[in-house]
Amino acid sequence: MQCPKCSGEAADFNTSDGVVVNFCRVCHGIWFDRGELALYCETEHDLPDLDLLLNQARLTPYLCPRCERTQLVEVPYMTGEDVLIDWCPQCRGAWLDAGEITKVEALAARHELHAVRLQRGIRQLEEAGFGVVGVVTRDKKRRLVS
Ligand SMILES: [Zn+2]
Ligand SMILES: [Zn+2]
Repeated sequence: MQCPKCSGEAADFNTSDGVVVNFCRVCHGIWFDRGELALYCETEHDLPDLDLLLNQARLTPYLCPRCERTQLVEVPYMTGEDVLIDWCPQCRGAWLDAGEITKVEALAARHELHAVRLQRGIRQLEEAGFGVVGVVTRDKKRRLVS
């Protein structure tokens, strides 16, 4: 795959949990196909607040490395955060510049904490006799291995 940012070669890269991403050896950006970022960060969606944030998306000059003719849009990873992800509206893959994965992981972990807190709240409601459905559980976090 050709890197959308520097035109270097973005080669397959295996993460510890079996997600194969594309890693650019030149600029160190990473491409995640649809669903892979969620799998890697153990969140429900690639970008947790995408539905809310799509109206803030800005067109970039970069072309999607998968779709080639589709321009990537820049969208915040989460509401109120300044980490901007390049995202393809066509194939719904995501490009992270060098170092962004660390910030995204930290935000995802915080997002996860919210989920854990939510679960506790739900448990308390259930103990109080309320019926609650649709609880999402998550495994322990895993990291990229090089
Ligand atoms: Zn690159
Ligand atoms: Zn695409």
